[in-house]
Amino acid sequence: MDTEKIEQLARRKGRAFKVLIVDDEPRVRDVFREFCEISHFVEVDVAENGAEAVEKVENSDYDLVTMDLIMPEMSGVEAVGRIKQLRPHLPIIVVTGNATERLVKQAGLEGASSLLYKPVMMENFVDEVIATFEKQIGL
Ligand SMILES: [Mg+2]
Repeated sequence: MDTEKIEQLARRKGRAFKVLIVDDEPRVRDVFREFCEISHFVEVDVAENGAEAVEKVENSDYDLVTMDLIMPEMSGVEAVGRIKQLRPHLPIIVVTGNATERLVKQAGLEGASSLLYKPVMMENFVDEVIATFEKQIGL
C-alpha cells in the first residue's frame, strides 16, 4: 500500500492531511478509519450524519471529506451542498451503497468531486484519497 506516497505529499503540504469520514454505520466509519490510518500522515475525524458533518466542517480545517448519502438527520446530498457553500475548495468523495442514480447525480451537482460504491476495497479507497490529495496540492 502506498503509504510512502502519502508521506511525500504531506511533507510537501507541510503537515498531515485531515480527513472527515461521514457515515451513519459505525462499522463503515471504523473500516474507513483503518484505511486512512495506514499512514501516520492522515488524521481522521468522524461524523455520523450530515448535520454533524456540517458542524465539524464549520469548526475545523479538513482536506477531504468522505460522504455517505443515506443518513438520518441530514442526508449526504444536503450536507454536500452546505459544505461546498462553507468550503468551496474542500473535496468530497461520495461513498454509497444503495443510493439511487438520481441521488448520486444530485450529489455531483451539489459539488461532490468523486464517487465510490460500497463495499469499497481498501486499494480503491486509498487510490482515490491519494489522487484527491495530489490534486489538492496541485500535482
Ligand atoms: Mg447510510
